[in-house]
Amino acid sequence: MAHTLQVIEPATEQVLAELPHAGVEEADAAIERAKAAFPAWRDVTPGDRAKILRRIAAAIDERADDLAELEARNVGKPISDARGEVGMVVDTFLYYSGAPERLLGDTIPVAGGMDFTFREPLGVVGLITPWNFPIAITSWKLAPALAAGNTVVLKPAELTPLTALELEKIAVEAGLPEGVFNVVVGPGRVVGERMVEHPDVAKIAFTGSTEVGRRIGALASQSIKRVTLELGGKSANIVFADADLDRAAASAPLAVFGNAGQDCCARSRILVERSALDRFMDALEEAVDSLRVGDPLDPDTQMGPLISADQREKVSSYADGEAPVAIRGSAPDGPGYWFPPTVLCPVSNDDRAAREEIFGPVAAVIPFDSEAEAVRLANDTIYGLSGSIWTRNGARALRVARAVESGALSVNSNTSVRVSTPFGGFKQSGIGRELGPHALDAYTELKNVYVSTE
Ligand code: NAD
Repeated sequence: MAHTLQVIEPATEQVLAELPHAGVEEADAAIERAKAAFPAWRDVTPGDRAKILRRIAAAIDERADDLAELEARNVGKPISDARGEVGMVVDTFLYYSGAPERLLGDTIPVAGGMDFTFREPLGVVGLITPWNFPIAITSWKLAPALAAGNTVVLKPAELTPLTALELEKIAVEAGLPEGVFNVVVGPGRVVGERMVEHPDVAKIAFTGSTEVGRRIGALASQSIKRVTLELGGKSANIVFADADLDRAAASAPLAVFGNAGQDCCARSRILVERSALDRFMDALEEAVDSLRVGDPLDPDTQMGPLISADQREKVSSYADGEAPVAIRGSAPDGPGYWFPPTVLCPVSNDDRAAREEIFGPVAAVIPFDSEAEAVRLANDTIYGLSGSIWTRNGARALRVARAVESGALSVNSNTSVRVSTPFGGFKQSGIGRELGPHALDAYTELKNVYVSTE
């Protein structure tokens, strides 16, 4: 029996939308629709599947302004970020529209016959997504899943379901057959777990917290369900004294405070070589002071509010913890779930603020004395998602990049995500890779066929 879900706008605390809240019955019905649609979608010719993906990309592009505004209001993220993310969704569909006709196999030399491999779709794929980058993360999973011939059930986060529902309508209008992509808005514990346990769901692609990822992994193991997990992070931004300190400091705030710090790639541990600490902190303070925090719909805004009152409470507990506050930026007063950008310094890597994913605008600055110590500190975490290395010494950049246990590293840059390159975590940051060519492996099963010629 469906209840009503209120979707709140974090910058105003007003109700943005009211929706039916699904339960197990609705989840089962969506899985049934996806199962019924699977054979026909799998059998659409690769060329026609590619065309439909290109049409979806064009339709999203046409609606880009509306989708970006909806996303900005629902998540509280700056409109300029939301526009960039919707642009990435278009690019993701275009990128994977090249895949249906390029799902190549191998021919393998064997005795007595011929041997081929094929990439087969899995069937019904369940997607479970978080609230921080709702439409972007959906596209990273949806586009390769559809390209490979799977049908999909998506459960978006309850706090931010609005762009997923728009995407479902847009896809059907663009020519995706009914039943191939189904959105169910409901609680993770109910709808999400039903998808994980349902025998007709072949695979779960999850992005969210490490805690929920562990539970999904455990439940999925009961039926040996395929699972990819994109989980939390506590990434290191390593700044050596020989770096361009002004550039490193200028880009450090948004590398943590972008999306109000609610970013799995947030470089929330800033490791700074002690001999450059004072100079770096001065430049960092200037950069934090110049951050524009405020109305998400203002095109100049760089940081909005947090997603909810609960999240603000959780974030406050770290900012008022054991490490001293060195820099505190400004934020509007209520209404809205505002929190000022905050830098703690010096922080020990053993402090709670350095060990746990805060998921808010709080950075921990940790001094180090040698390259070996920087690598040891960077790796002294359960996570391994992203990170940066700032240095003018090319050999050191490569040495450290190889030594840091992390899925996506950048040198003299704080970017992590590109449509054409693999993204995912080492250690407890996840299992599997999204984006780039490798994501297709996660939405296909490898089949080997041997033909005797004797
Ligand atoms: P969350 O784990 O609370 O929820 C994620 C999704 O899982 C939501 O749709 C939720 O409803 C659902 N869910 C909750 N409990 C469930 C259960 N028992 N079974 C099935 N589904 C369940 O995460 P969140 O708070 O929405 O997002 C923040 C987290 O996501 C952070 O830890 C962040 O690091 C992580 N994240 C990771 C990546 C990445 O690519 N590695 C990207 C973005 C966010």
